[in-house]
Amino acid sequence: MSAVTEQELEGLDAFSGEVLRPGEAGYDEARRGFNGLIDKRPALILRCRGEADIVDAVAVARDSGLEVSVRGGGHNVGGRCFTDGGVMIDLSLMKGISVDPSARTARVQPGVNWAQLNRETQLHGLAVTGGVISTTGIAGLTLGGGLGWLMPKFGLATDNLISARIVTADGRTLTVSEHENADLFWGLRGAGANFGVVSSFEYRLHEVGPTVIGGLVAHPFDVAADVLRFYREFTADAPDELMTFAGVGHAPDGSGTKLALVVACHIGAPEQAEEDLRPLREFGSPVMVELGPLPYTVINAMLDGGYPTGSLNYWKSGFLSGLSDEAIDELLARFAVCPSPMTAALLEHFHGKVTRVAVDATAVPHREPGYNLVITSVWTDPAATEENVAWTKEIYAAMEPFLVGRRYLNYFSEDDVGDDPVRAAYGQNYERLVELKTTYDPRNLFRLNANVPPD
Ligand SMILES: Cc1cc2nc3c(=O)[nH]c(=O)nc-3n(C[C@H](O)[C@H](O)[C@H](O)COP(=O)(O)OP(=O)(O)OC[C@H]3O[C@@H](n4cnc5c(N)ncnc54)[C@H](O)[C@@H]3O)c2cc1C
Repeated sequence: MSAVTEQELEGLDAFSGEVLRPGEAGYDEARRGFNGLIDKRPALILRCRGEADIVDAVAVARDSGLEVSVRGGGHNVGGRCFTDGGVMIDLSLMKGISVDPSARTARVQPGVNWAQLNRETQLHGLAVTGGVISTTGIAGLTLGGGLGWLMPKFGLATDNLISARIVTADGRTLTVSEHENADLFWGLRGAGANFGVVSSFEYRLHEVGPTVIGGLVAHPFDVAADVLRFYREFTADAPDELMTFAGVGHAPDGSGTKLALVVACHIGAPEQAEEDLRPLREFGSPVMVELGPLPYTVINAMLDGGYPTGSLNYWKSGFLSGLSDEAIDELLARFAVCPSPMTAALLEHFHGKVTRVAVDATAVPHREPGYNLVITSVWTDPAATEENVAWTKEIYAAMEPFLVGRRYLNYFSEDDVGDDPVRAAYGQNYERLVELKTTYDPRNLFRLNANVPPD
C-alpha cells in the first residue's frame, strides 16, 4: 500500500480534526459506510471539522499523488466515498445545522443525515426535499440530485439549494449561488462531487407538516400485476402534494413472503389528503392498510428498517419509458425468483414540480414525468453475494427494453463506471459539465464519483 510521507503530513500542523492511519483506533470504523460490500482501506483518513481543515486536507491529498475520495454521509451504494490506498477526506464529523425560521433557510454541514436535518427544520414546521431513508447523507444526495417525498411539490433537494461553499482542487474557497460563480453553481446541482469538496449547503425551506398523511398499503404478491396497473391509473393525475412509490418487496418479518406495496406521503390539507388517498385505501383486498396522520419525521424513517447499515447492497436503476402491461409482467416474473427476502423493486413516481424544472436549469436532466425503476438488492450473508448480484443483473437486463436510457447517478453500484452510465446520468448536460470540469478540476483530482473526465 502507498503511504503518505511525514513531510506531506506537515501540512496538517493546524488541522483540528482527526488523522487516522491503518491500525489506529477508529480507523476501521471510519473506513466503513452503509454498504457492507464495500471494504476499502485508505492509506490516510483526514476527518475534517471545518472549512480550513478541508483546505489543508485537499492540499495534502493533492500533493500525495494518491487517489482522493470524499466522504459525506458514507451512504452511497457504489462506495464512491472510499478509496483503497488513497486519501479519504472525511466530512462525517461536520454536523452543524443552523435554521433561520423567519428567512426559511438552513445552512448545513456535509456530515449531516436526513434524520438530523429534518429534526431541526421540523421544530419550525419546515422541511426541504430529502432522502426517503433517514440515515442517508444530505451531501452526496443533494450533489447528485436528491429525490424524495417532497419533490412533486418542491422539486429535488438540489433544486432547493440557495448557495453552497466549496473547496476546489487548487484550494480556493468559493461561494456558489445564482449570483456568485453561477457556472459552478449550475454544475454543482447534480454533478457536484466532480468539482471540489462542499463544506456547507444553504437550503430553501418550505412549510411541511409537522403532521402529514401517509403510510403504506400492502397486497398479496399474486395480485401484484393488478396493483401496479391500478398504480398507473392512480398516479396519472396525482396532485403535487402527493408522492408515492410502488413496487414489490417482502414482509419485514424475514419470512420471505412477497408483497405488492404502495407507500405514500401527502402534505396537503388533511381533508384533501383523505380524498386523494381514498382510491388507494379502497382498491382490492389489501393485507395491510396503514395510512393516516403521522409526523413527517416518522414518514421519513418508516422504511429505514428495510435498509440496515452494514447490510450487503447491489442496486440497479433506470427510468422507464412508461408502465406498460409488458413491463409490469416482466418485472413480476423476474421478481418471483428473487433470492433475498430483503430485496425490493420500486417505482418512483416523477410528477409535479420536479418535472417542471428545465432540463438545462441544473445538471440534473431527469425532468420527464414517469417512473424510475430501482432494484434494491439487499442481503446479509456474504456467501449469497454472487447469487444476489447475478439475479440483480438478470432482472435489470430483462427490464432494459422498457428503459429510456436515463439513469439516476446516486443509485449507481460499484460497477457503474465509465462513459455509458455517466452519459445516461447527465444526458444533454454532459458536454457543459466537461467544460466546467476542465476549468475547475483539470487533473481530475475528484474522480471517485459519477465522473466527468476533463478534456
Ligand atoms: C438505503 C438508501 C436509500 C436511499 N434513498 C435515497 C432517496 O430517497 N433519494 C435519493 O435521491 N437518493 C437516495 N439514495 C442514494 C443517495 O442519494 C446516495 O447514496 C448519496 O450518495 C448519499 O449521500 P452521502 O453523503 O451519504 O454519500 P457518500 O457515500 O458519502 O458520497 C457519495 C458521493 O458524493 C461525494 N460527496 C459526498 N459528500 C461530498 C461533499 N461534501 N463534497 C463533494 N463530494 C461529496 C462522494 O465523494 C461520493 O462520490 C439512497 C441510498 C441508500 C443506500
